[in-house]
Amino acid sequence: MIKLYNSLTRKKEVFNPIATGSVKMYACGPTVYDRAHIGNFRTYIMEDVLRRMLKYNGLNVLYAQNITDVGHLVGDGDEGEDKMEKGARAAGKTAWEIAKFFTEEYFKDSRRLNIADPNVSARATDHIKEQIEMVKKLEELGFAYKTSDGIYFDTSKSTNYGEIARLDKEGLKEGARVEKNPEKRNDTDFALWKFSPKDKKRQMEWDSPWGVGFPGWHIECSAMSTKYLGEPFDIHAGAMDLLPVHHTNEIAQNEAVFGHKTVNYWIHGAFLLVNGGRMGKSLGNAYTLSDLEQRGFDPLAFRYFTFNAGYRQPLNFTWQALEGSAKAYENLIQKISDLMPDNPGINTKNINEEYAVKFKNLVSDDMSMPEALSLVWEMMKDKNIPNDIKLNTITKFDEVLGLSLTEKAEELKNKTSNIPEQVKILISERETARLNKEWKRSDEIRAQILKMGFEIKDTGEGTKITPVGKFV
Ligand code: AMP
Ligand code: ZN
Repeated sequence: MIKLYNSLTRKKEVFNPIATGSVKMYACGPTVYDRAHIGNFRTYIMEDVLRRMLKYNGLNVLYAQNITDVGHLVGDGDEGEDKMEKGARAAGKTAWEIAKFFTEEYFKDSRRLNIADPNVSARATDHIKEQIEMVKKLEELGFAYKTSDGIYFDTSKSTNYGEIARLDKEGLKEGARVEKNPEKRNDTDFALWKFSPKDKKRQMEWDSPWGVGFPGWHIECSAMSTKYLGEPFDIHAGAMDLLPVHHTNEIAQNEAVFGHKTVNYWIHGAFLLVNGGRMGKSLGNAYTLSDLEQRGFDPLAFRYFTFNAGYRQPLNFTWQALEGSAKAYENLIQKISDLMPDNPGINTKNINEEYAVKFKNLVSDDMSMPEALSLVWEMMKDKNIPNDIKLNTITKFDEVLGLSLTEKAEELKNKTSNIPEQVKILISERETARLNKEWKRSDEIRAQILKMGFEIKDTGEGTKITPVGKFV
């Protein structure tokens, strides 16, 4: 049984897909005016784990995600410059060039984090026609009105505007974060189509029945999710901040056009924090995956780090905490590598059913990743399970964890079994030195071995030798 916390009902609910055996899922993707930061990636990892968990439960998942490459304004509202045009100016490139570049970078980073590509990746600029069609429908149905700078959605026409955000009128006004626009009928009204400024030519603009301009930020997700997934569909995901504005408005548009709820489960992830506050591009406290890699961290150590908290709990990022996760991750790989036989014979496919049932229950219970990870360690330490069974079980768990555990362990095993002859001689010399209590000599040899690319660790189970920088 799968359970998910649904923001619509504010309850953990049993997940029942609309069609037996398959799930249709949509998530809000990046705005490609800059590189995605690790805060964004916390959310994308959560969505990847959700998708993997559904598959783990035998469900087919059709997953669509958008790429916002137009219309997302600096203020998240309907005022200010388009993030794309601003980003292009800062980079000295065109908006089209940076959109292409940062979309590619986004997918490269995602793959480094073992985030599987969506089945459908839909760019807003490729779906202008669909967005115009939807605005036309909203106009026909009496939900849209015209001002001097665009076509707006009249939120007073929605019967339950803002239901998902559970905010009163005042809260919604605040949530709208929009500078006062005297032409709007209600503070919470939002742009469906904006006209290009009269005094300046935009790089991205299109003809429409209302005049040359560009789509509002929210209409792309309404138009593209229902185009690729139909409606209603099962799951819509994103980070918490999208709930009071973007998702509230997406719901208002959809329900106006279709006349009923179009999404059954809304899933929202909590933020990655820095010093207790949100990590954000515009706040100047954001790290990218390359920043982590430059400091010698494996991207997957960051993925492991995100499992330290449930996805609905804020998670504070520090280099020290990441270091802790990287060590734990390396340790886990080392332990898995130790389970691997030197000469793999006939491999059984058996897994430990008891742990497998517990693991499936934990990940299916609203993705309880910290608990699932604890269980992984409990099993690794369990002396009653034969190595081959342990190995098969952990390989199975990795379908959800997505940490490349078996591959990394194999890599490590291969490197370790290829220790050069010279290093082997030094190791045995060091052993002799240690037996004779010649500690200084032993340390010197360790340093010499390190220079040759191998690290010696004296553990309770004897001396271990590992290649340095193996996971980077
Ligand atoms: P953007 O590229 O700004 O449209 O954001 C992409 C996604 O990342 C959205 O779902 C945001 O809500 C989410 N996001 C932004 N900052 C953070 C953060 N610090 N932690 C987690 N998710 C975030
Ligand atoms: Zn969206």
